[in-house]
Amino acid sequence: MKLIYEKSVPGRRAVRWPEGAEESPAQLPSSLLRERPAELPELAEVEVVRHFTALSRLNYSVDTHFYPLGSCTMKYNPKACEAAAALPGLTDLHPLWPQLRPGGMLTQGALQILYETERLLSEITGMAEVTLQPLAGAHGELTGVMLMAAYHRDRGNRKTHILIPDSAHGTNPASVAIAGYEVVTVPSDASGRMDLEAFRKAVNAETASVMMTSPSTLGLFVANSRDIADLVHAVDGLMYYDGANLNAILGRCKPAEMGFDICHLNLHKTFATPHGGGGPGSGPVGVIEKLRPYLPISRVIRQPDGTFALDYDAPKSIGYIAPFYGNFGVIVRAYAYLLMIGREGLREVSHLAVLNANYLQEKLRPHFEAVAAGRCMHECVFSGRRLAEHGVLTLDLAKALIDRGIHPPTVYFPLNVPEAIMIEPTETETRETLDRFAEVMIELAGLAKSDPEALKRAPVTTPVGRLDEVAAARNMDLVFQPSPV
Ligand SMILES: *Cc1c(COP(=O)(O)O)cnc(C)c1O
Repeated sequence: MKLIYEKSVPGRRAVRWPEGAEESPAQLPSSLLRERPAELPELAEVEVVRHFTALSRLNYSVDTHFYPLGSCTMKYNPKACEAAAALPGLTDLHPLWPQLRPGGMLTQGALQILYETERLLSEITGMAEVTLQPLAGAHGELTGVMLMAAYHRDRGNRKTHILIPDSAHGTNPASVAIAGYEVVTVPSDASGRMDLEAFRKAVNAETASVMMTSPSTLGLFVANSRDIADLVHAVDGLMYYDGANLNAILGRCKPAEMGFDICHLNLHKTFATPHGGGGPGSGPVGVIEKLRPYLPISRVIRQPDGTFALDYDAPKSIGYIAPFYGNFGVIVRAYAYLLMIGREGLREVSHLAVLNANYLQEKLRPHFEAVAAGRCMHECVFSGRRLAEHGVLTLDLAKALIDRGIHPPTVYFPLNVPEAIMIEPTETETRETLDRFAEVMIELAGLAKSDPEALKRAPVTTPVGRLDEVAAARNMDLVFQPSPV
Protein backbone atom coordinates (compact mmCIF):
# COMPACT_ATOMS: atom_id res chain seq x y z
CA MET A 1 0.00 0.00 0.00
CA LYS A 2 1.18 3.51 -0.80
CA LEU A 3 1.81 5.99 1.98
CA ILE A 4 -0.54 8.95 2.05
CA TYR A 5 2.42 11.19 1.16
CA GLU A 6 2.97 9.21 -2.02
CA LYS A 7 -0.64 9.86 -3.04
CA SER A 8 -0.23 13.60 -2.53
CA VAL A 9 -0.73 15.94 -5.53
CA PRO A 10 0.44 19.55 -5.07
CA GLY A 11 -2.46 21.95 -4.80
CA ARG A 12 -5.16 19.29 -4.31
CA ARG A 13 -7.53 20.09 -1.43
CA ALA A 14 -10.26 18.41 0.63
CA VAL A 15 -11.67 21.76 1.72
CA ARG A 16 -11.83 25.03 -0.20
CA TRP A 17 -11.74 28.16 1.91
CA PRO A 18 -13.46 31.34 0.80
CA GLU A 19 -11.45 33.33 -1.71
CA GLY A 20 -8.37 34.84 -0.07
CA ALA A 21 -8.89 33.21 3.35
CA GLU A 22 -5.95 30.85 2.92
CA GLU A 23 -3.56 33.72 2.24
CA SER A 24 -4.69 36.01 5.09
CA PRO A 25 -2.03 36.12 7.84
CA ALA A 26 -2.95 34.32 11.07
CA GLN A 27 -3.54 36.41 14.16
CA LEU A 28 -0.39 35.08 15.78
CA PRO A 29 2.91 36.73 16.71
CA SER A 30 5.31 36.38 13.79
CA SER A 31 7.79 34.58 16.05
CA LEU A 32 5.31 31.69 16.20
CA LEU A 33 4.64 31.46 12.46
CA ARG A 34 6.23 28.77 10.30
CA GLU A 35 9.00 29.85 8.01
CA ARG A 36 8.14 27.18 5.44
CA PRO A 37 4.75 25.54 4.81
CA ALA A 38 4.16 22.30 6.74
CA GLU A 39 4.89 19.31 4.52
CA LEU A 40 1.40 17.84 4.63
CA PRO A 41 -0.05 15.48 2.05
CA GLU A 42 -2.45 17.18 -0.36
CA LEU A 43 -5.49 15.10 -1.29
CA ALA A 44 -9.19 15.22 -2.04
CA GLU A 45 -11.57 14.27 0.77
CA VAL A 46 -12.61 11.00 -0.90
CA GLU A 47 -8.97 9.95 -1.22
CA VAL A 48 -8.39 10.55 2.49
CA VAL A 49 -11.49 8.54 3.43
CA ARG A 50 -10.49 5.65 1.15
CA HIS A 51 -6.91 5.69 2.37
CA PHE A 52 -7.81 5.34 6.05
CA THR A 53 -10.67 2.94 5.43
CA ALA A 54 -8.30 0.69 3.47
CA LEU A 55 -5.76 0.92 6.30
CA SER A 56 -8.39 0.01 8.89
CA ARG A 57 -9.23 -3.12 6.89
CA LEU A 58 -5.69 -4.35 7.34
CA ASN A 59 -6.33 -4.48 11.08
CA TYR A 60 -6.67 -7.89 12.55
CA SER A 61 -9.05 -8.11 15.49
CA VAL A 62 -11.33 -10.36 17.51
CA ASP A 63 -14.26 -8.66 15.78
CA THR A 64 -12.95 -9.87 12.39
CA HIS A 65 -11.08 -13.15 12.97
CA PHE A 66 -10.29 -16.04 15.34
CA TYR A 67 -7.46 -15.02 17.66
CA PRO A 68 -6.19 -17.99 19.75
CA LEU A 69 -3.27 -16.11 21.32
CA GLY A 70 -2.37 -18.14 24.41
CA SER A 71 -2.10 -16.41 27.80
CA CYS A 72 -3.73 -13.32 26.29
CA THR A 73 -7.44 -14.30 26.38
CA MET A 74 -8.38 -12.63 23.12
CA LYS A 75 -12.05 -13.34 23.59
CA TYR A 76 -15.06 -11.59 22.16
CA ASN A 77 -16.38 -8.97 24.56
CA PRO A 78 -20.08 -8.10 24.61
CA LYS A 79 -20.83 -4.76 22.95
CA ALA A 80 -23.26 -4.01 25.78
CA CYS A 81 -20.23 -3.47 28.04
CA GLU A 82 -18.87 -0.90 25.56
CA ALA A 83 -22.24 0.84 25.60
CA ALA A 84 -22.19 0.97 29.42
CA ALA A 85 -18.72 2.51 29.46
CA ALA A 86 -19.83 5.08 26.87
CA LEU A 87 -22.82 6.38 28.88
CA PRO A 88 -22.54 10.18 28.98
CA GLY A 89 -23.13 10.22 32.75
CA LEU A 90 -19.87 8.28 33.08
CA THR A 91 -17.76 9.69 30.25
CA ASP A 92 -18.55 13.29 31.24
CA LEU A 93 -17.25 12.81 34.78
CA HIS A 94 -14.07 14.43 35.93
CA PRO A 95 -12.00 12.95 38.77
CA LEU A 96 -11.68 16.37 40.42
CA TRP A 97 -15.42 16.82 40.81
CA PRO A 98 -16.38 17.15 44.46
CA GLN A 99 -17.27 13.99 46.30
CA LEU A 100 -18.75 14.86 49.61
CA ARG A 101 -18.47 18.56 50.11
CA PRO A 102 -21.88 20.13 50.85
CA GLY A 103 -23.97 19.65 47.73
CA GLY A 104 -21.14 17.68 46.15
CA MET A 105 -22.83 14.40 45.45
CA LEU A 106 -21.89 14.41 41.80
CA THR A 107 -19.61 11.36 41.80
CA GLN A 108 -21.65 9.08 44.07
CA GLY A 109 -22.66 6.81 41.19
CA ALA A 110 -19.07 6.39 40.02
CA LEU A 111 -17.87 5.67 43.55
CA GLN A 112 -20.63 3.12 43.94
CA ILE A 113 -19.51 1.35 40.75
CA LEU A 114 -15.95 1.22 42.08
CA TYR A 115 -17.11 0.01 45.48
CA GLU A 116 -19.37 -2.70 44.11
CA THR A 117 -16.84 -3.90 41.54
CA GLU A 118 -14.34 -4.34 44.37
CA ARG A 119 -16.91 -6.34 46.33
CA LEU A 120 -17.67 -8.56 43.32
CA LEU A 121 -13.98 -9.25 42.69
CA SER A 122 -13.50 -9.99 46.40
CA GLU A 123 -16.25 -12.57 46.12
CA ILE A 124 -14.69 -14.10 42.99
CA THR A 125 -11.17 -14.32 44.43
CA GLY A 126 -12.09 -14.99 48.08
CA MET A 127 -9.86 -12.07 49.08
CA ALA A 128 -10.84 -9.77 51.96
CA GLU A 129 -10.22 -6.59 49.99
CA VAL A 130 -9.51 -5.53 46.42
CA THR A 131 -7.98 -2.36 45.00
CA LEU A 132 -8.88 -1.37 41.45
CA GLN A 133 -6.05 1.11 41.09
CA PRO A 134 -3.30 -0.79 39.20
CA LEU A 135 -3.38 0.04 35.50
CA ALA A 136 -2.27 -3.33 34.05
CA GLY A 137 -1.39 -6.87 35.05
CA ALA A 138 2.29 -6.08 35.47
CA HIS A 139 1.38 -2.98 37.49
CA GLY A 140 -0.79 -5.17 39.72
CA GLU A 141 2.18 -7.49 40.26
CA LEU A 142 4.41 -4.57 41.20
CA THR A 143 1.73 -3.31 43.59
CA GLY A 144 1.48 -6.81 45.08
CA VAL A 145 5.24 -7.07 45.60
CA MET A 146 5.27 -3.59 47.17
CA LEU A 147 2.53 -4.76 49.54
CA MET A 148 4.65 -7.75 50.51
CA ALA A 149 7.65 -5.53 51.11
CA ALA A 150 5.56 -3.25 53.36
CA TYR A 151 4.28 -6.28 55.30
CA HIS A 152 7.76 -7.72 55.84
CA ARG A 153 9.18 -4.33 56.83
CA ASP A 154 6.38 -3.88 59.34
CA ARG A 155 7.06 -7.30 60.84
CA GLY A 156 10.83 -6.75 60.97
CA ASN A 157 11.33 -9.69 58.59
CA ARG A 158 14.59 -9.84 56.66
CA LYS A 159 13.58 -11.07 53.23
CA THR A 160 15.79 -11.05 50.16
CA HIS A 161 14.25 -13.12 47.40
CA ILE A 162 11.06 -14.29 45.70
CA LEU A 163 10.65 -17.73 44.14
CA ILE A 164 9.23 -17.97 40.61
CA PRO A 165 8.65 -21.14 38.55
CA ASP A 166 10.50 -21.23 35.22
CA SER A 167 7.21 -21.34 33.31
CA ALA A 168 6.13 -17.92 34.67
CA HIS A 169 5.08 -14.96 32.57
CA GLY A 170 8.05 -12.60 32.03
CA THR A 171 6.36 -9.80 33.94
CA ASN A 172 6.70 -11.80 37.22
CA PRO A 173 10.50 -11.66 37.48
CA ALA A 174 10.47 -8.11 36.10
CA SER A 175 8.10 -6.90 38.85
CA VAL A 176 10.17 -8.64 41.51
CA ALA A 177 13.40 -7.08 40.27
CA ILE A 178 11.87 -3.59 40.06
CA ALA A 179 10.63 -3.91 43.65
CA GLY A 180 14.18 -4.72 44.77
CA TYR A 181 13.99 -8.45 45.48
CA GLU A 182 16.19 -11.11 43.99
CA VAL A 183 14.51 -13.59 41.62
CA VAL A 184 15.10 -17.27 42.38
CA THR A 185 13.88 -19.50 39.54
CA VAL A 186 12.37 -22.90 40.38
CA PRO A 187 12.56 -25.54 37.60
CA SER A 188 9.57 -27.54 36.35
CA ASP A 189 9.34 -31.31 36.65
CA ALA A 190 8.62 -33.70 33.77
CA SER A 191 4.87 -33.01 33.99
CA GLY A 192 5.49 -29.28 33.45
CA ARG A 193 4.57 -28.40 37.03
CA MET A 194 6.87 -26.71 39.53
CA ASP A 195 9.35 -29.28 40.88
CA LEU A 196 8.33 -29.65 44.53
CA GLU A 197 11.69 -31.08 45.64
CA ALA A 198 13.59 -28.17 44.07
CA PHE A 199 11.05 -25.82 45.65
CA ARG A 200 11.54 -27.33 49.12
CA LYS A 201 15.30 -26.76 48.79
CA ALA A 202 14.87 -23.15 47.65
CA VAL A 203 12.53 -21.98 50.45
CA ASN A 204 14.27 -20.49 53.48
CA ALA A 205 13.86 -17.79 56.11
CA GLU A 206 14.71 -15.09 53.52
CA THR A 207 11.92 -16.12 51.14
CA ALA A 208 9.53 -13.16 50.86
CA SER A 209 7.08 -14.94 48.59
CA VAL A 210 6.42 -17.37 45.79
CA MET A 211 4.66 -16.03 42.70
CA MET A 212 2.59 -18.67 41.01
CA THR A 213 0.23 -18.91 38.08
CA SER A 214 -2.52 -21.50 38.30
CA PRO A 215 -3.42 -22.78 35.82
CA SER A 216 0.26 -22.43 35.02
CA THR A 217 1.33 -20.93 31.72
CA LEU A 218 1.36 -24.51 30.46
CA GLY A 219 -2.39 -24.61 30.98
CA LEU A 220 -2.07 -27.02 33.92
CA PHE A 221 -3.84 -26.70 37.23
CA VAL A 222 -1.49 -26.58 40.23
CA ALA A 223 -3.24 -29.02 42.53
CA ASN A 224 -0.72 -28.88 45.37
CA SER A 225 -0.81 -25.13 46.01
CA ARG A 226 -1.90 -25.72 49.62
CA ASP A 227 1.21 -27.84 50.29
CA ILE A 228 3.34 -25.11 48.74
CA ALA A 229 1.50 -22.54 50.87
CA ASP A 230 2.32 -24.51 54.04
CA LEU A 231 6.04 -24.35 53.22
CA VAL A 232 5.92 -20.64 52.43
CA HIS A 233 3.78 -19.66 55.41
CA ALA A 234 6.09 -21.60 57.75
CA VAL A 235 8.76 -18.95 57.06
CA ASP A 236 6.21 -16.07 57.16
CA GLY A 237 6.38 -15.78 53.38
CA LEU A 238 3.41 -14.72 51.26
CA MET A 239 1.70 -16.64 48.47
CA TYR A 240 1.19 -14.56 45.33
CA TYR A 241 -1.32 -15.63 42.68
CA ASP A 242 -0.93 -14.36 39.13
CA GLY A 243 -4.59 -14.36 38.11
CA ALA A 244 -4.14 -12.71 34.73
CA ASN A 245 -5.84 -15.74 33.18
CA LEU A 246 -8.78 -16.37 35.45
CA ASN A 247 -11.07 -17.79 32.74
CA ALA A 248 -10.14 -21.33 33.73
CA ILE A 249 -11.37 -21.19 37.31
CA LEU A 250 -14.09 -18.51 37.36
CA GLY A 251 -16.89 -19.44 39.73
CA ARG A 252 -15.24 -22.77 40.60
CA CYS A 253 -12.42 -22.08 43.01
CA LYS A 254 -10.96 -19.02 44.69
CA PRO A 255 -7.28 -18.10 44.99
CA ALA A 256 -7.73 -17.30 48.71
CA GLU A 257 -9.07 -20.82 49.30
CA MET A 258 -6.13 -22.33 47.42
CA GLY A 259 -3.77 -20.84 50.00
CA PHE A 260 -2.89 -17.53 48.33
CA ASP A 261 -2.54 -14.21 50.17
CA ILE A 262 -2.32 -11.75 47.27
CA CYS A 263 -3.56 -11.95 43.71
CA HIS A 264 -3.96 -9.75 40.69
CA LEU A 265 -6.51 -10.10 37.90
CA ASN A 266 -6.52 -8.68 34.40
CA LEU A 267 -9.84 -6.98 33.70
CA HIS A 268 -8.54 -6.55 30.14
CA LYS A 269 -8.42 -10.29 29.61
CA THR A 270 -11.11 -11.99 31.64
CA PHE A 271 -13.60 -9.21 32.29
CA ALA A 272 -14.81 -7.69 29.02
CA THR A 273 -12.17 -5.20 27.99
CA PRO A 274 -10.48 -6.10 24.73
CA HIS A 275 -6.86 -7.00 25.27
CA GLY A 276 -3.98 -6.08 23.00
CA GLY A 277 -3.29 -2.87 21.16
CA GLY A 278 -1.44 -1.38 24.11
CA GLY A 279 -4.20 -0.55 26.55
CA PRO A 280 -5.84 0.79 28.53
CA GLY A 281 -5.84 -2.04 31.04
CA SER A 282 -6.66 -2.72 34.66
CA GLY A 283 -4.93 -5.10 37.07
CA PRO A 284 -6.89 -5.13 40.35
CA VAL A 285 -5.11 -6.61 43.37
CA GLY A 286 -6.83 -8.61 46.09
CA VAL A 287 -5.38 -9.32 49.53
CA ILE A 288 -6.26 -11.32 52.61
CA GLU A 289 -7.22 -9.54 55.82
CA LYS A 290 -3.73 -9.15 57.33
CA LEU A 291 -2.50 -7.23 54.28
CA ARG A 292 -5.39 -4.77 54.16
CA PRO A 293 -3.53 -1.94 55.99
CA TYR A 294 -0.88 -1.75 53.24
CA LEU A 295 -3.22 -1.28 50.25
CA PRO A 296 -2.60 1.80 48.12
CA ILE A 297 -4.59 4.98 48.76
CA SER A 298 -7.16 6.14 48.18
CA ARG A 299 -9.75 3.56 49.20
CA VAL A 300 -13.42 3.76 48.27
CA ILE A 301 -15.46 3.41 51.44
CA ARG A 302 -19.13 3.23 52.26
CA GLN A 303 -20.03 5.51 55.13
CA PRO A 304 -22.56 4.79 57.87
CA ASP A 305 -25.12 7.02 56.12
CA GLY A 306 -24.80 4.89 52.95
CA THR A 307 -22.89 7.43 50.87
CA PHE A 308 -19.53 6.69 49.31
CA ALA A 309 -16.26 8.54 49.77
CA LEU A 310 -12.56 8.29 49.07
CA ASP A 311 -10.53 7.56 52.18
CA TYR A 312 -6.89 8.60 52.53
CA ASP A 313 -6.45 7.69 56.18
CA ALA A 314 -4.18 4.64 56.01
CA PRO A 315 -0.88 5.19 57.85
CA LYS A 316 0.63 1.87 56.74
CA SER A 317 -0.42 2.21 53.09
CA ILE A 318 2.18 1.88 50.34
CA GLY A 319 0.79 5.22 49.11
CA TYR A 320 -0.19 6.26 45.62
CA ILE A 321 0.44 3.91 42.74
CA ALA A 322 -1.76 5.53 40.09
CA PRO A 323 -3.42 8.87 39.47
CA PHE A 324 -6.99 9.11 40.82
CA TYR A 325 -8.62 5.69 40.86
CA GLY A 326 -7.47 3.36 38.11
CA ASN A 327 -8.75 3.11 34.52
CA PHE A 328 -12.38 3.88 35.14
CA GLY A 329 -13.74 2.89 31.71
CA VAL A 330 -12.20 -0.56 31.99
CA ILE A 331 -13.69 -0.98 35.46
CA VAL A 332 -17.15 0.01 34.19
CA ARG A 333 -16.94 -2.67 31.47
CA ALA A 334 -16.05 -5.29 34.09
CA TYR A 335 -18.89 -4.15 36.35
CA ALA A 336 -21.42 -4.30 33.51
CA TYR A 337 -20.10 -7.72 32.45
CA LEU A 338 -20.33 -9.17 35.96
CA LEU A 339 -23.87 -7.89 36.50
CA MET A 340 -24.89 -9.16 33.07
CA ILE A 341 -23.62 -12.72 33.32
CA GLY A 342 -23.99 -13.27 37.07
CA ARG A 343 -22.80 -16.22 39.13
CA GLU A 344 -24.06 -18.90 36.74
CA GLY A 345 -22.59 -17.04 33.78
CA LEU A 346 -19.15 -17.04 35.39
CA ARG A 347 -19.30 -20.80 35.82
CA GLU A 348 -20.35 -21.14 32.19
CA VAL A 349 -17.31 -19.08 31.14
CA SER A 350 -14.85 -21.40 32.86
CA HIS A 351 -16.75 -24.47 31.68
CA LEU A 352 -16.59 -23.45 28.02
CA ALA A 353 -13.05 -22.03 28.17
CA VAL A 354 -11.75 -25.35 29.49
CA LEU A 355 -13.96 -27.47 27.23
CA ASN A 356 -12.85 -25.59 24.10
CA ALA A 357 -9.16 -25.91 24.97
CA ASN A 358 -9.48 -29.64 25.62
CA TYR A 359 -11.46 -30.12 22.41
CA LEU A 360 -8.62 -28.56 20.43
CA GLN A 361 -5.95 -30.38 22.42
CA GLU A 362 -7.45 -33.76 21.56
CA LYS A 363 -8.05 -32.88 17.90
CA LEU A 364 -4.43 -31.75 17.50
CA ARG A 365 -2.75 -34.34 19.73
CA PRO A 366 -2.14 -36.88 16.91
CA HIS A 367 -0.37 -34.21 14.84
CA PHE A 368 1.54 -32.12 17.39
CA GLU A 369 3.34 -33.02 20.59
CA ALA A 370 1.03 -31.99 23.47
CA VAL A 371 2.71 -30.93 26.72
CA ALA A 372 -0.14 -32.27 28.87
CA ALA A 373 -0.56 -36.04 28.96
CA GLY A 374 -4.09 -35.57 30.30
CA ARG A 375 -6.56 -32.71 30.50
CA CYS A 376 -5.53 -29.08 30.17
CA MET A 377 -7.33 -26.05 31.57
CA HIS A 378 -8.19 -22.99 29.43
CA GLU A 379 -5.28 -23.32 27.04
CA CYS A 380 -3.30 -26.14 25.46
CA VAL A 381 0.42 -26.08 24.79
CA PHE A 382 2.25 -28.06 22.11
CA SER A 383 5.85 -28.38 21.07
CA GLY A 384 6.50 -27.92 17.36
CA ARG A 385 9.64 -30.06 17.66
CA ARG A 386 8.33 -32.74 15.26
CA LEU A 387 8.05 -30.21 12.43
CA ALA A 388 11.71 -29.31 12.95
CA GLU A 389 12.63 -32.74 11.54
CA HIS A 390 11.51 -31.33 8.18
CA GLY A 391 13.28 -28.02 8.74
CA VAL A 392 10.01 -26.26 9.59
CA LEU A 393 9.93 -24.06 12.69
CA THR A 394 6.99 -23.02 14.83
CA LEU A 395 7.59 -19.55 13.42
CA ASP A 396 6.91 -20.84 9.87
CA LEU A 397 3.67 -22.43 11.03
CA ALA A 398 2.60 -19.16 12.66
CA LYS A 399 3.24 -17.20 9.44
CA ALA A 400 1.32 -19.74 7.36
CA LEU A 401 -1.71 -19.38 9.66
CA ILE A 402 -1.83 -15.67 8.84
CA ASP A 403 -2.30 -16.53 5.14
CA ARG A 404 -5.28 -18.66 6.12
CA GLY A 405 -7.00 -15.85 8.03
CA ILE A 406 -6.13 -17.03 11.53
CA HIS A 407 -4.14 -15.13 14.09
CA PRO A 408 -1.18 -17.28 15.19
CA PRO A 409 -1.24 -18.72 18.69
CA THR A 410 1.40 -17.52 21.14
CA VAL A 411 4.72 -19.01 20.03
CA TYR A 412 8.05 -19.62 21.80
CA PHE A 413 6.34 -19.17 25.18
CA PRO A 414 6.41 -20.69 27.78
CA LEU A 415 10.18 -20.64 27.58
CA ASN A 416 10.57 -24.16 29.00
CA VAL A 417 8.85 -25.76 25.98
CA PRO A 418 10.97 -26.05 22.81
CA GLU A 419 9.29 -24.56 19.72
CA ALA A 420 6.24 -23.82 21.90
CA ILE A 421 2.75 -23.33 20.43
CA MET A 422 0.29 -22.04 23.03
CA ILE A 423 -3.37 -22.06 22.01
CA GLU A 424 -6.14 -20.34 23.97
CA PRO A 425 -9.44 -20.65 22.10
CA THR A 426 -11.46 -18.84 24.85
CA GLU A 427 -15.08 -19.50 25.74
CA THR A 428 -16.62 -17.30 23.07
CA GLU A 429 -15.83 -19.36 19.95
CA THR A 430 -18.20 -21.70 18.16
CA ARG A 431 -17.47 -25.32 17.49
CA GLU A 432 -17.32 -24.56 13.73
CA THR A 433 -14.52 -22.05 14.31
CA LEU A 434 -12.57 -24.53 16.42
CA ASP A 435 -13.05 -27.24 13.78
CA ARG A 436 -11.79 -24.98 11.01
CA PHE A 437 -8.75 -23.98 13.07
CA ALA A 438 -7.93 -27.64 13.77
CA GLU A 439 -8.35 -28.46 10.07
CA VAL A 440 -5.91 -25.72 9.08
CA MET A 441 -3.37 -26.78 11.72
CA ILE A 442 -3.55 -30.38 10.52
CA GLU A 443 -3.21 -29.27 6.89
CA LEU A 444 -0.08 -27.31 7.82
CA ALA A 445 1.41 -30.25 9.75
CA GLY A 446 1.00 -32.28 6.52
CA LEU A 447 2.47 -29.51 4.40
CA ALA A 448 5.51 -29.38 6.69
CA LYS A 449 6.34 -32.87 5.46
CA SER A 450 5.28 -32.64 1.81
CA ASP A 451 6.34 -29.10 0.94
CA PRO A 452 8.30 -27.41 3.75
CA GLU A 453 9.31 -24.58 1.42
CA ALA A 454 5.67 -23.47 1.14
CA LEU A 455 5.69 -22.75 4.87
CA LYS A 456 9.03 -20.97 4.67
CA ARG A 457 7.60 -18.52 2.10
CA ALA A 458 4.57 -17.53 4.21
CA PRO A 459 2.97 -15.08 4.65
CA VAL A 460 2.19 -14.20 1.05
CA THR A 461 -1.21 -12.52 1.47
CA THR A 462 -0.09 -9.69 3.75
CA PRO A 463 1.11 -6.21 2.65
CA VAL A 464 4.51 -7.03 4.14
CA GLY A 465 5.91 -10.57 3.71
CA ARG A 466 8.50 -12.35 5.82
CA LEU A 467 10.77 -9.81 7.44
CA ASP A 468 14.42 -10.15 8.16
CA GLU A 469 13.82 -9.78 11.88
CA VAL A 470 17.48 -9.20 12.75
CA ALA A 471 17.83 -6.46 10.16
CA ALA A 472 14.50 -4.95 11.30
CA ALA A 473 15.91 -4.60 14.81
CA ARG A 474 19.48 -3.60 13.83
CA ASN A 475 19.06 -1.36 10.80
CA MET A 476 15.94 0.55 11.62
CA ASP A 477 14.55 2.81 8.92
CA LEU A 478 11.90 4.87 10.64
CA VAL A 479 11.83 8.17 8.78
CA PHE A 480 9.86 8.83 5.63
CA GLN A 481 11.46 11.42 3.38
CA PRO A 482 8.91 12.90 0.99
CA SER A 483 10.48 13.45 -2.40
CA PRO A 484 11.09 17.16 -3.07
CA VAL A 485 8.17 18.77 -4.89
C1 LIG B 1 -0.94 -10.97 30.46
C2 LIG B 1 -0.28 -11.56 31.64
C3 LIG B 1 0.41 -10.74 32.55
C4 LIG B 1 0.67 -9.26 32.36
O1 LIG B 1 -0.44 -8.46 32.15
P1 LIG B 1 -0.28 -7.04 31.44
O2 LIG B 1 -1.59 -6.36 31.62
O3 LIG B 1 0.07 -7.30 30.01
O4 LIG B 1 0.82 -6.28 32.15
C5 LIG B 1 0.94 -11.36 33.67
N1 LIG B 1 0.84 -12.69 33.87
C6 LIG B 1 0.20 -13.49 33.00
C7 LIG B 1 0.10 -14.97 33.28
C8 LIG B 1 -0.37 -12.96 31.85
O5 LIG B 1 -0.99 -13.77 30.97
